[in-house]
Amino acid sequence: MRAIAVFPGKPNSVHLTELPKPSLSEIPNGRGVLVKVLRVGVDGTDKEINAAEYGAAPGGYDFLVIGHESFGQVEAVGPNITELRPGDYVVATVRRPGSSIYDKIGTYDMTTDDTYFERGINLRHGFLAEYYVDEPEYIVKIPQGLKEVAVLLEPATVVEKGVAQAYEIQRRLKVWRPRRAAVMGAGTIGLLATLVLRLRGLDVTTFGLVRKPYRNSDLIEAVGARYESTADLPIMDGAQKYGPFDLIFEATGYSPIAFESMRALGKNGVLVLSSVTGGDRKAEIPADKINLEFVLGNKVMVGTVNANREYFEMGVRDMAQAEAEYPGWLSRLLTNRVMGLENYKELFSELTAAKDAIKVFCEVVAEAADICEHSRQYVTATK
Ligand code: BGC
Ligand code: ZN
Repeated sequence: MRAIAVFPGKPNSVHLTELPKPSLSEIPNGRGVLVKVLRVGVDGTDKEINAAEYGAAPGGYDFLVIGHESFGQVEAVGPNITELRPGDYVVATVRRPGSSIYDKIGTYDMTTDDTYFERGINLRHGFLAEYYVDEPEYIVKIPQGLKEVAVLLEPATVVEKGVAQAYEIQRRLKVWRPRRAAVMGAGTIGLLATLVLRLRGLDVTTFGLVRKPYRNSDLIEAVGARYESTADLPIMDGAQKYGPFDLIFEATGYSPIAFESMRALGKNGVLVLSSVTGGDRKAEIPADKINLEFVLGNKVMVGTVNANREYFEMGVRDMAQAEAEYPGWLSRLLTNRVMGLENYKELFSELTAAKDAIKVFCEVVAEAADICEHSRQYVTATK
């Protein structure tokens, strides 16, 4: 079968490769699930992997099959599978357990191991291929009604985990009635965070760089949130005007905003940091002020990465609620479609160059195009 791979450590090495089709027998005890890949989304992590800033090949290989935002259909199951059936639509989780106690209880997203395994990212092949095989523990069933947008589930789980952790942490307060939230960043994660917080009934202000109106500010307003450009309203002024913020979700990819967010956070508030900032940026910060306000305001800050199965299941429920409450909204995020694994060059040029792209994704097989009739009208890049 064909797959899209890189040579980790070698910049711009994305290429098409050939691998044997995986078989059910690779998973012991008749517990294999063979999935035909329909669609795979790409994001900043894939960009960094192809730039050789991130990622590692599995043992015994000099290449890594990339792709971690998957959507597919079960083709066959082993004799001991009751959870899934051929024909089911599915999305796979990304991380696979290591050896820490957190890995052992299914919370592999919280691993304390230094070496972690992520399909399509680190030490495990990913999903930009025609098929994959895995255990049912890592495969989440998607309802028929979400098949058109399910490729967005993996990025949504990053938000689900961050928000769920924030609520979990706030149980420290005995009573927590969050009313106002801010989202920093209006990219794919910022948009999904805005949605998820609106679904929880919060008054949401989302900050981005670009002045409205543009596609992303329209999407933010379409779920009843407010969009502000930091070009006109600095974050601290925004906090004065629309705060105090009980919860802030940071997703700009620009680390100095983490410190501004600390200042913008209200008393007893929780700040969720989700930007993976691989660089070496330095910033000057009002350290005394930030520290003092954190202490006197009983504030809390938490980092979040990856997501385990539980957050994928939450994501499915939120996406279903989103389709019920804001029909068609999720499919408007599917902006740039590239047909077929063979067009991997185009996939990466869309990812790196398309200026107003929200989600760039690969339609791995032609049949998947049929399920996408509705989103087609929003797609700007087709082939
Ligand atoms: C992925 C996560 C992963 C993280 C760090 C993100 O792009 O969506 O699943 O844990 O990168 O590798
Ligand atoms: Zn990702």
